[in-house]
Amino acid sequence: MSWGTATLTSALPENDASALDARVLLASALQRSVTYLYTWPDKAIGSTELHRYQRYIAQRGQGTPVAYITGQRDFWSLSLQVSPATLIPRPDTETLVEQALLRLPTGPATICDLGTGTGAVALAIASERPDCQILAIDVVAEAVELANSNAQANNLTNVTVLQSSWFANIQGQQFDMLVSNPPYVENLSPYLKQGDVRFEPASALTAGSDGLDDIRYIVQHAGNYLTAQGWLLLEHGYTQGPAVRTLLQEAGFIQVSTVNDLSGQPRISGGQWCAKGQVVCRSQ
Ligand code: GLN
Repeated sequence: MSWGTATLTSALPENDASALDARVLLASALQRSVTYLYTWPDKAIGSTELHRYQRYIAQRGQGTPVAYITGQRDFWSLSLQVSPATLIPRPDTETLVEQALLRLPTGPATICDLGTGTGAVALAIASERPDCQILAIDVVAEAVELANSNAQANNLTNVTVLQSSWFANIQGQQFDMLVSNPPYVENLSPYLKQGDVRFEPASALTAGSDGLDDIRYIVQHAGNYLTAQGWLLLEHGYTQGPAVRTLLQEAGFIQVSTVNDLSGQPRISGGQWCAKGQVVCRSQ
């Protein structure tokens, strides 16, 4: 493992997680858990596993994200398969799940996850709320397949996955909550040239010159797909909070606010739908 760490440190000097990456890749090459490595630190490694480990370290040395090499990433309490067709689930997005769970009514409710990717947000909510029905949509066929297979692997039967470009294939349906981690990076952001994001699909990352194209679209149309007082919750870039709150207010949402992620950055904004003219909304 020290060989792997040293190789990664010299290949990717800007990455400060070489030791962790080497450990996760070794565990994956051995098809064991990281705990196994701590339990049996001196165990000899077979030649098939050694070659696999060397291949993994070479791939990582070229910049490929660890999750694309192992094909797996933990999110919330779930183990998810990932592929280069989708974004790798981030810890920041767990804040979106927390905020959704805080706002869901106590009884059964319907939720739609827009742009589900691996299914991370939809599946995490589904695992906490077996009484709720979740529809997860994505425009990318491989993502739909992946989210479906992640739902099955985690035995979550209260999630349905559908291929749709945002609301295109859910016309006429209404939900108690819409959640989304849409693309929100500026098209020309220098951030796209660094680290793992270079390997992730642009379709999951970028949204116009200010990064807000998809968020604008979702906010402007969301009301048609929400029940009265239903919630819309969106992940966004850490500088986009004020713009997203303005969009929500202009579209007629109330109780608009922003919540920080685990690193203390403004990350999730949302509001409650208030169909115009409803007495219940004016009184709040
Ligand atoms: N927060 C993500 C990142 O840092 C961007 C994800 C997104 O666009 N939804 O790469």
